[in-house]
Amino acid sequence: MAQLLEGKPIAEKIKEEIKQKVLALSARPVLASVMVGENAGAEAYAKSQAKTAQALGIEYQFSKLAQETSESQLIEFIQKLNADKSVNGIIVQMPLPAQIDYKKISQFILPEKDIEGMHPQNIGKILFGKAKLIPCTANAAMELINATGIDLYGKEVVVVGHSEIVGKPLSLLLLDKFATLTVCHIGTSRAGKLEEHVRKAEVLIVAVGKAGLIKGEWIKEGAIVIDVGINRIGDKIVGDVEFEEAQKRAAFITPVPGGVGPLTVTMLMRNLVEAATLQRDTQ
Ligand code: NDP
Repeated sequence: MAQLLEGKPIAEKIKEEIKQKVLALSARPVLASVMVGENAGAEAYAKSQAKTAQALGIEYQFSKLAQETSESQLIEFIQKLNADKSVNGIIVQMPLPAQIDYKKISQFILPEKDIEGMHPQNIGKILFGKAKLIPCTANAAMELINATGIDLYGKEVVVVGHSEIVGKPLSLLLLDKFATLTVCHIGTSRAGKLEEHVRKAEVLIVAVGKAGLIKGEWIKEGAIVIDVGINRIGDKIVGDVEFEEAQKRAAFITPVPGGVGPLTVTMLMRNLVEAATLQRDTQ
């Protein structure tokens, strides 16, 4: 029976390190959070960020712009935050209204204030193994893998999902650790080859958003399973992996909820403090 790989205890340890780094800064670091329009999910996520920030001594400045805000108005707002020396990091809450293209927006956040790590310059640095601001969910998955004590060198690692925010940056981080990497996506599923790849995974990370996509019986004996997926089934939240069956085979498995989720916000705060420290050191 697999050992549960819970995010909370790891997050608590990292939060202690963040608190110490906050104390070493001369001023309280400031995270500017921007939301456009109404969205209950985004609002709940922003509230959880505000709570975590407060507990760590980080100032959380929340701005809510009108639903009809245009792309150029949002860019103008971001540029003001870029120019404001008291702001150390900027996050734009998802989803954005249809008239705004997130990929375009992320390029207007100054790379040194891009605490989501999605500016092309920060993504590019991952390629060279030099990234300081890493996309939060990908980084959270790496922390969970590290917590198992595994050395990724030469291991068969399979990532399912190739989104810009999770699967692709995570794949680069894993390659940097010399994992033997397979990245599966919709093309793999449509070719009927998902099971074949998943079955060989010594470490499996799934970030798709489809409940039950990964059958428990596909999990290799002794594997490490990181389930990033979040799916609402009635009043329950489940991941992408059939948990009960997978738990019988894996050595470690993340619960959903309670695995990757609690670590993601902590990674955002770690990036904020990293950004503030870098800004101080380059002044
Ligand atoms: P996206 O929808 O952007 O990406 C999903 C990925 O899965 C895409 O690469 C897609 O390929 C691929 N995919 C879709 N269907 C299949 C299939 N049948 N077989 C294999 N691959 C498939 O989602 P995100 O990356 O943003 O998020 C993934 C999941 O992780 C979601 O459930 C999300 O809620 C969750 N999440 C959890 C976080 C946390 O903190 N715990 C944070 C962020 C996300 P293609 O695009 O080519 O169709």
